Amino acid sequence: DAQSRGGGRFAFFDRSRALENHERLILERDLQAAIEYGDLVLFYQPKVDIRTGELVGLEALVRWKHPKLGMVPPLKFISIAEETGLIVPLERWVLRTACLQMQQWMREGHPPVPVAVNLSQIHLMQTDIVESILSTLAELNYDTKLLELEVTESAMMNNEEQVIEILGRLKQAGISISLDDFGTGYSSLSYLQMLPIDCLKIDRSFIKGIATHANSLAIVEMILSMARQLDLRIIAEGIEHEEQVQLLRGLRCFTAQGFYYGKPVAAEDFYALGFDQRKLGS
Ligand code: C2E
Ligand code: MG
Ligand code: MG
Ligand code: MG
Repeated sequence: DAQSRGGGRFAFFDRSRALENHERLILERDLQAAIEYGDLVLFYQPKVDIRTGELVGLEALVRWKHPKLGMVPPLKFISIAEETGLIVPLERWVLRTACLQMQQWMREGHPPVPVAVNLSQIHLMQTDIVESILSTLAELNYDTKLLELEVTESAMMNNEEQVIEILGRLKQAGISISLDDFGTGYSSLSYLQMLPIDCLKIDRSFIKGIATHANSLAIVEMILSMARQLDLRIIAEGIEHEEQVQLLRGLRCFTAQGFYYGKPVAAEDFYALGFDQRKLGS
């Protein structure tokens, strides 16, 4: 009957939650070693000009190759990294690895496009963050113009003055700043105009519905007009269908990222997506 089925459901729920807690404990225990001993890996996802199909940038996204649990997605360990402070060495590794990878690609003749790395609020608020990033780039002799930092809207909402100062110095050095998952936070127009940012990344949740939901389309249109008012670049995240591409084209939003153009893949698979050919063919 309903009662016993309900009971069964709860038992199942408890069991899966216990498994989840267990997994989290394992991840907490192993994260430091993973950073030190090289169990993290970066995947890369293309950012594309929808008019030409040309590659205009990449985003580096971290994964954890856990010896027992297999490939662990970032959503399972970024919050652990933030809570333990390990996000700082983790993202330092991400920055260095992404820059080295770009340099290798450029040596191999691939185009010099910017790579984006995600920056946690915890890392952003480190007192030496600007020096740390700039000294890494200097040491690698990496062009600051080819680096983009993606920061979420919520990370910007606390310590506003400090954030503005930090981002301003990074931008001054030539690095571009993107506001990630835009639309999911509560930035006001007046706050946005104070931020030293270059680009808004429209969150996937709005793009998902643009072809089917009038509300999503209205929100995307509003974000686009805001970005134009503020003279910001814009990129649509989470493009999965041709229909979405056509709609964005109509709205004159010409930069996109999503499974439609390519899922995040390991470095060795990235150029197999065909971006060189498309560039030569255009
Ligand atoms: P994000 O920065 O917004 O990155 C985009 C996420 O959306 C990626 O998930 C990507 O695989 C996914 N995505 C891209 N296109 C599509 C699409 O068309 N459809 C769908 N369904 N998903 C799409 P991923 O790689 O699992 O990363 C999730 C989040 O983890 C990232 O979201 C970012 O917030 C965080 N993350 C990854 N690497 C780092 C890092 O080094 N530092 C920090 N702080 N966060 C990171
Ligand atoms: Mg991002
Ligand atoms: Mg995003
Ligand atoms: Mg996101």
